[in-house]
Amino acid sequence: MEYLGQYKAVYKAKAGCEDILAKSQDGGIVTAMFAYALETGIIDGAIVAGPGAEPYKPEPMIATTVEELFASRGTKYSVSPNLALIKEATRSYGLDKIGIVGTPCQIQAVRKGQLYPVGLRDVPDKIALALGIFCMENFPYQGLFQMVEDHCATKIDNVTKMDIGKGKFSVYTERGVNSQIPLKVTHKYEQPGCHVCLDYVANMADISTGSVGTPDGWSTVFVRSAAGEAAFNKAVEAGWIIAESMDGVKPGLELVEKLATEKITKNQKYLEHRAHKEHAALKPLRNPYT
Ligand SMILES: Cc1cc2nc3c(=O)[nH]c(=O)nc-3n(C[C@H](O)[C@H](O)[C@H](O)COP(=O)(O)OP(=O)(O)OC[C@H]3O[C@@H](n4cnc5c(N)ncnc54)[C@H](O)[C@@H]3O)c2cc1C
Ligand code: SF4
Repeated sequence: MEYLGQYKAVYKAKAGCEDILAKSQDGGIVTAMFAYALETGIIDGAIVAGPGAEPYKPEPMIATTVEELFASRGTKYSVSPNLALIKEATRSYGLDKIGIVGTPCQIQAVRKGQLYPVGLRDVPDKIALALGIFCMENFPYQGLFQMVEDHCATKIDNVTKMDIGKGKFSVYTERGVNSQIPLKVTHKYEQPGCHVCLDYVANMADISTGSVGTPDGWSTVFVRSAAGEAAFNKAVEAGWIIAESMDGVKPGLELVEKLATEKITKNQKYLEHRAHKEHAALKPLRNPYT
């Protein structure tokens, strides 16, 4: 399991509360974990991707109530610069124990900020719970808009859910699946920066979660750090999360590892390609990892 990072345990899991499941993306793990952590004082607020001014355009938000967490449920397939609020969370919001959710690159930024806190005075020891979500790629908002409105012929205002899985980008409205397009159509809209990304399952998070590997309505959950383990186990004991063994679950960890391997080897190849003179007319492009 070379590409899945270090972890203490892995589960098939979902929220124990129907209200959370109703509008969450998968098993509602992010919302349930933060809601439990908020109620029990593990965190005093969480930086999440809230609803923005336009439909499915995420806007970073500091949630200090369960209602605010509920408003942030669901995946928005566009960039939500959640890290932009990390300093403010400790200043005007006065948070001492911050929760933050993010894609693998964002969790890397959290950890980098903790180790090398340039311009982040007082922040490093206030990160209490970093939840990572699996991520194959992300899209600029304009690209996402075109995928929905042009390719899926659906008004984005009418969309109730978007999902990427089983090789398709799917758009749902109140009546169910409205349109599905193969991912080969969406490739050209991907953020170019995602093509040098070498992390699929948020290796540096306290807990990471995604849909791949478990049946619909459930999530795959990696419990990675001691803090993540303590919070997750308590949330399970308290009934906020239902966790079961991954043994025998189909498609299971095998598929998670297959996708992680595909992403990382493809992007590693691209990084190597960028380093060659033929790629850039004048000089090789920078490699951020060396
Ligand atoms: C760009 C992107 C690509 C993804 N690719 C995959 C994939 O390839 N395979 C896979 O298994 N899972 C992928 N996911 C994760 C998956 O879609 C769910 O986010 C994850 O399973 C959590 O679901 P949940 O039911 O626990 O979350 P919920 O309880 O519904 O909560 C969702 C949380 O995610 C946050 N969020 C939503 N959009 C963003 C965003 N753009 N940036 C940061 N935070 C956000 C919200 O603030 C909320 O707190 C991707 C997510 C994103 C944002
Ligand atoms: S693919 Fe990587 S760089 Fe792109 S949003 Fe996902 S985690 Fe970040």
